[in-house]
Amino acid sequence: MSEATIREALDAADGISEAETEFTDVEILCIDCHHDFVWTAGEQAFFRDKKLTNPPKRCKPCKKLKNERLAAIERAQETGVRQRIEVAAECARCQSMTTVPFYPSQGRPVYCRACYLEITAAPNGHQPGN
Ligand SMILES: [Zn+2]
Ligand SMILES: [Zn+2]
Repeated sequence: MSEATIREALDAADGISEAETEFTDVEILCIDCHHDFVWTAGEQAFFRDKKLTNPPKRCKPCKKLKNERLAAIERAQETGVRQRIEVAAECARCQSMTTVPFYPSQGRPVYCRACYLEITAAPNGHQPGN
């Protein structure tokens, strides 16, 4: 098949390719900001080309922020310098959004300042000086 023939075949297929597109834009709920974002057909094709099987969990701004956080943590580990970081997280007690100065690990509850103070100040059954 000559190159010209291929081109003609592609041109002929052009009219029906729209209906045959295997990807369509999908809306995904961002796990960080809890807003829907569009995972476009083009991005899905890109994911498939890269052999990525899991759809993105974060919108682009949140993904960028996450990458920046990770980069900051890596830099801190490399240099041994503790950098001040602020990570957005949902309080496990009152469900309000808060920021914490560390990157929360999976499964570990994160509390906002108010809840944290309440929890740490709460009497735990032992009287001081007993
Ligand atoms: Zn987001
Ligand atoms: Zn809270």
